[in-house]
Amino acid sequence: MLIKTIAHWAKKLLKFNPNLILCLGFSLVSMTVYAQDQTNVIKELKRQYQSIHASCDNDQFDQIKVKIHIPLIDDQAIQNATWIHEQIKQSNRLFAKIKVCFELDDIVALSDQYNVLETANQRTKLGKDRLTSGLIDLFIVSKLADIDIKGEEIRGVHWRNPKNKQKSRWIILSKIASHLVLAHELGHYFDLPHSEYEQSIMNKKERAYPMNQRGFVEDEYKIMEKAKKRMIEDQHLIPVK
Ligand SMILES: [Zn+2]
Repeated sequence: MLIKTIAHWAKKLLKFNPNLILCLGFSLVSMTVYAQDQTNVIKELKRQYQSIHASCDNDQFDQIKVKIHIPLIDDQAIQNATWIHEQIKQSNRLFAKIKVCFELDDIVALSDQYNVLETANQRTKLGKDRLTSGLIDLFIVSKLADIDIKGEEIRGVHWRNPKNKQKSRWIILSKIASHLVLAHELGHYFDLPHSEYEQSIMNKKERAYPMNQRGFVEDEYKIMEKAKKRMIEDQHLIPVK
């Protein structure tokens, strides 16, 4: 019945406007071309990343996959392969102590409706139907508003699904993040709170301690080591062998 009704109205419309069929055809073609463009942009970004990146080659390490979700605006990814590479490289440098190496799993396009995140609800929505179990999902956005201070923006956040805080969580990075921000958020992912240690990247206070000598401290590594063990045991993270 429904199909008959649709066919009936389609006939009527076409009689009324024969250009409609051309118009519909054109829209379909443009949608296909657009999807093709998006695929090519992502492919190129992955190719560039692979060309500068060094694989985890120590088999004593647990390789944890990171899947990147990134919006494409005006046929361009909002950040480039060098920036992504630097975030992962710095994280690998600092996580080597607990024998963890992060490896790119995949890069996928993220709907541009998430390019600017203003609310907690938007952050939560990101995790709906997009997460892969056993790895870390990383979302990159153009703007990540500070939901506590109006008008301010932040560089990154470790975000939890309010309905499953322990098991369902992900990281959001603003494209303006400097190179140690992913490592900081991964610190949270591995159970660390903010700290007061002068040399720790978990200390958010402005201070003179040289940026290139900042990392995690012994006490923090102990917590991270335990978190790693727990997450692997309960298969929240599944290292690749
Ligand atoms: Zn933090």
